[in-house]
Amino acid sequence: MIIILLGPPGAGKGTQAQRLEREHGLKQLSTGDMLRSAAKSGTDVGLRAKEVMDRGELVSDDIVVQIIAEALTRDECVNGYILDGFPRTVAQAGALDAMLEQRGTKLNAVVEIVVPEDVLVERISGRFACAKCGATYHDKFHLPKKDCVCDECGGTEFVRRDDDRPDAVRQRLKVYKAQTEPLLPYYRERGILIRIDGNRPMDEVAAEIDRQLGIENLKPPKCDDGDAAGTAG
Ligand code: AMP
Repeated sequence: MIIILLGPPGAGKGTQAQRLEREHGLKQLSTGDMLRSAAKSGTDVGLRAKEVMDRGELVSDDIVVQIIAEALTRDECVNGYILDGFPRTVAQAGALDAMLEQRGTKLNAVVEIVVPEDVLVERISGRFACAKCGATYHDKFHLPKKDCVCDECGGTEFVRRDDDRPDAVRQRLKVYKAQTEPLLPYYRERGILIRIDGNRPMDEVAAEIDRQLGIENLKPPKCDDGDAAGTAG
């Protein structure tokens, strides 16, 4: 199964993609995560991308298309995958169609997560993550149980994304409207667009996505040693 998660920054794409990977074994492919990891490693491409990302703008189509083309060849994608944050422009959507056709596969669904703008700004401006394991928190909605200690790994250092600053957030929302929203009619016309109200508790959003995709009973494939696959990362 191949799914695109579409929605503005802060809609919950990353959270739902991670859950779909954990619960259903569909590999999360987040171009944002891949670009941040390239920036952290200090590669040329990564450092140039970081400047663009920190301003809240889009990295060039060529770079992200190349990143996704490489990711699709990985073994971990054989049971299906979720494109989280890709495509973001009409040109990227065209490149994706070509890649899928070349691989003899096709898109099953595009899930649009809809959240009002004032809620998005409140969500993004309060979010932070454990520097060690990446577990995510929020100043208002989800603080660690013990003050300044990560619930998941006990880490005591936390980070905020550079592009979660108010000026960058405003720019990211503007870019979403101008460059990514035009993808909605593109997929609606193909009859594969599913609209989900994302302004609800996370579990309700999750249940609605699973119901609309018809994957309530889809389990991750078992490995030889009996462990569930697709739970890492
Ligand atoms: P995200 O983690 O999905 O919010 O992405 C963070 C930033 O990475 C975006 O604001 C863009 O600068 C960049 N980025 C991620 N995915 C793409 C994409 N498909 N096309 C262009 N830029 C991207």
